[in-house]
Amino acid sequence: MLPTDPDAPEPYPDECVACYLRRVVAEHGCDHTPAWGERFRDLRSPTAHSLVRRLDALGGCGCAVVGRGLRPVREVMVRDLHTDELEEPERWPGCAGVGPTSSRPCRHWERRPRRTGA
Ligand SMILES: [Zn+2]
Ligand SMILES: [Zn+2]
Repeated sequence: MLPTDPDAPEPYPDECVACYLRRVVAEHGCDHTPAWGERFRDLRSPTAHSLVRRLDALGGCGCAVVGRGLRPVREVMVRDLHTDELEEPERWPGCAGVGPTSSRPCRHWERRPRRTGA
């Protein structure tokens, strides 16, 4: 399913852009264009002209934004009992919710720190 398909999933009423991108990429894959983000903007925040530019700064396409630009906060991650590493949960909590026209991620997400190379 492509983001431009009329039957492509729409964001829930209070779902944030990051939870939406994570959900649609998990279900339908990523075409590595900003199209999922543009769909979110068109349906939820048509006046948020900076949204796609902001997503571009976080990686551009859906899988890059939620895989590299943002990461789940500690409260969302689960500890792997075997490796003692924090990892993404198998079953994600629902979106914490944002305002109806908000283009910001909810409190389940934070910016991934850039590697300093140090
Ligand atoms: Zn992608
Ligand atoms: Zn969310």
